[in-house]
Amino acid sequence: MSAWKPKKYLGQHFLKDLDISKQIVEAIKLPLQDPSSIVLEIGPGKGALTHFLVQKQFANLYLVEIDSELVSYLLKTYPILSNHIIEADFIKLDLTKRWVGPISVVGNFPYNISSQIFFKLLQHRDQVKEIVCMVQKEVAERIIAQPGSKAYGIPSVFLQAFYNINYLFTVGPDLFMPPPKVNSAVIRLERNELQQLPCNENLFSKLVKLGFQQRRKKLKNALSAMILPAHLVDLPQLNQRAEELSISDFIALTQEIGAHIA
Ligand code: SAH
Repeated sequence: MSAWKPKKYLGQHFLKDLDISKQIVEAIKLPLQDPSSIVLEIGPGKGALTHFLVQKQFANLYLVEIDSELVSYLLKTYPILSNHIIEADFIKLDLTKRWVGPISVVGNFPYNISSQIFFKLLQHRDQVKEIVCMVQKEVAERIIAQPGSKAYGIPSVFLQAFYNINYLFTVGPDLFMPPPKVNSAVIRLERNELQQLPCNENLFSKLVKLGFQQRRKKLKNALSAMILPAHLVDLPQLNQRAEELSISDFIALTQEIGAHIA
């Protein structure tokens, strides 16, 4: 790897700190010795986390890395994983075709595509039981944000609806090579008990997205493109802004609107 240089466009910032790597791997609570469980590392890079994952001897550890140079390096360094290193764009990978068991996802995510990764994981929420990841601190703050705060938005609502989320710790830029411009944070998400939203999920998504696209407007105005029945404009939730509504408020609103539009 002598001529090798980190690729900015792939979000390559390699963690140098062994203690932090170890703590991230230790934060994986599942699988509890379940032989059908899969541990899936997104963006292993040069193996900062992989090194400790291998020591854990998980029954089914897989790595998904997009950079072929890093894939060759990983194959050489971890021959034991030779059939488990997948050279692919995680966003395009068909998870259900490859794996049937429950999945614990781990990774220092490429920051440029972290939202896309979360939305993909949400689509597979019945399989993805746990996520331990490093993201930009600001993204972590948005994910855990509560109603009424500026950071509260679309990722907070969707992820908190299906996952219990903990902010584990902050990591400064100097622990990476090359250092990113921002602080990072490690968070852990564990799938909650909710199987389905008790409302029409498409309508729920639409309301949340439209509401936050114009987050400073009252919902009845932010949703004006939807042409709601006139008598609904008095609904309390419609007279608030999206950023003031809890997930249950959004669910109640979806139920009300869903009952009145075809
Ligand atoms: N886990 C390593 C590397 C983190 S940097 C460490 O902590 O040091 C992010 C890694 O994600 C890089 O290795 C990058 O090549 C990889 N990556 C970027 N986009 C990807 C994608 N779409 N699919 C899979 N891996 C990706």
